[in-house]
Amino acid sequence: MLLIIAALLLATGSAAWLLLGRRQRGAKAAVFAAVPLLLLALVATGGIAPAPASAAEPCPPGMSAPVATTPATTDPVTPDPVTPVDFEPGAAGIGDSYFPLDGNGGYDVQHYDLDLAYAPDTDVLSGTTTVTAIATQNLSAFNLDFDTRDVNGDDAIVISSITVDGVPADWSLATTQISASTGQPQVEGSGDDDATPPRTELTIVPPAGIPLGATITTAVTYSGVPIVVADAFGPAGVFPTPTGAVVVGQPRVAATWFPSNDHPSDKATFSTRMTVPTGLEVIGNGRLASQTTAAGLDTFDWEMEKPMATYLATATLGDFDVETNTDPATGITYVDAIDPTLFDRDVDGAPGVKVGDIASQIFATEPEVIDFLSTYFGPYPFSEAGGIAIGYIDEDTGDDLPYALENQTRPIYPAWAFPADVDASVVVHELAHQWYGDDLSMNRWSDIWLNEGFATYAEWLWEEGQGGRTTQQSFDAAYARSGTSSYWQTVVADPGSAGIFAGAVYSRGAMTLQALRNEVGDDDFFAILKGWATENAGTSVSTTQFVDYAESVSGQDLTEFFDTWIYTAGKPALG
Ligand SMILES: [Zn+2]
Repeated sequence: MLLIIAALLLATGSAAWLLLGRRQRGAKAAVFAAVPLLLLALVATGGIAPAPASAAEPCPPGMSAPVATTPATTDPVTPDPVTPVDFEPGAAGIGDSYFPLDGNGGYDVQHYDLDLAYAPDTDVLSGTTTVTAIATQNLSAFNLDFDTRDVNGDDAIVISSITVDGVPADWSLATTQISASTGQPQVEGSGDDDATPPRTELTIVPPAGIPLGATITTAVTYSGVPIVVADAFGPAGVFPTPTGAVVVGQPRVAATWFPSNDHPSDKATFSTRMTVPTGLEVIGNGRLASQTTAAGLDTFDWEMEKPMATYLATATLGDFDVETNTDPATGITYVDAIDPTLFDRDVDGAPGVKVGDIASQIFATEPEVIDFLSTYFGPYPFSEAGGIAIGYIDEDTGDDLPYALENQTRPIYPAWAFPADVDASVVVHELAHQWYGDDLSMNRWSDIWLNEGFATYAEWLWEEGQGGRTTQQSFDAAYARSGTSSYWQTVVADPGSAGIFAGAVYSRGAMTLQALRNEVGDDDFFAILKGWATENAGTSVSTTQFVDYAESVSGQDLTEFFDTWIYTAGKPALG
């Protein structure tokens, strides 16, 4: 993600979203008991049949019960009792202290199959999402994140059926009010009563216990108008536009439009089929496998064949000018989409210069940018690339999205990403995320400097490559901030949930990389950058892993270095 700087935001009058959280003051949704308690209560009152407590119970088709070993004995046979196997509910969170209800425990998603339709005249999203996962424990029940309820606790999306392995399953919803400033569950009496739409946990109780290692295929059918999340992280969700919808956000967006294990540490492949009125476009992640027309509707099938974090999924739709080109040198297919209204819209401060024209020019440089970044980071991780240039996210207020986002293979850019001087730095930032942030995902949200520090350093490298400041000069400019500035109080590798997009996560993260370069020398530094990306391709990574990797490549003990630069507040002294 790259946030527009606050000053520019205010100057262009597009800061209304900042106030959205405040407007919702006082609107409180019902707070339900924590999920395990809810389950317990339901079981106790007979609301949900208890899940089988023993492997002796029948297993769903395709699953086999653990086999009890019977020792060889002579008659008379006295069989040993079958060892009971405990089936427990999966946890309601994956274990990230920043956003404790994000993700879930007890399974690992392999694939999301989204078979959805969007009606621009009603903003209704409908269809079926099928989640294929592997159980990582014996499960009596498990959760998906699915934010179906609005800030008042009313159903915005209605679930009509859920099956597990083809058999109807019992299910329930539990909502928890979330703080708009921290993204964490609200603490009663804390005074932090700004509300954002609640986190909704969907608890599914399959007809029989699911053994460790079994494949779970869960199909959820639903329909409704998705909620838009408005909080300190910026607006996120499915934004209705005059011709369709923009689907974008970080950290919280996926669960507003499909049930998911909504955390970047559980990456999965995606098939996204979106049906829209004929004439509209759908731009998703990866490869357009097919586009079919029937009865006035077009279905686009986008296939993301490499693992993707949930927040990077999009199916942005509406009226778009779409260009598809395959670079013969690399084989990378570029899909670039521009909202046609941008060809009639002046760049801020440059009358007569059209945003759409600048977007076309900058998109045309994507192969050059990817080639440049590949020399430092290693081969581009995907076989597709491109970008989506969007119009206003709120036509009535004239608000632009206040950030650009690195959606996998297809970042989303608001108009301000395309300045009159054709500076491509925002595109450089989001394309750098394809290595650091997308192919490599955060293991925990506290690790976000591994995304943003690296993408910012990519901007510094690009600027140097264009004949501008050297990376050392960019470092010096950032370092020149007064030691008393609050900027230095951010702990880069643990900025707190409210601080994941703090400026220091970006630029002090990049400064850390320049300081590391000065510490270990160019050869080791660029070996670290490249090896980190290629050796961890397709996985979720932690700061600890990066520190260990930098030490192993350089052969140096970097404990004190990283303590100073990413684990401690305060302006580092230069040695
Ligand atoms: Zn970013």
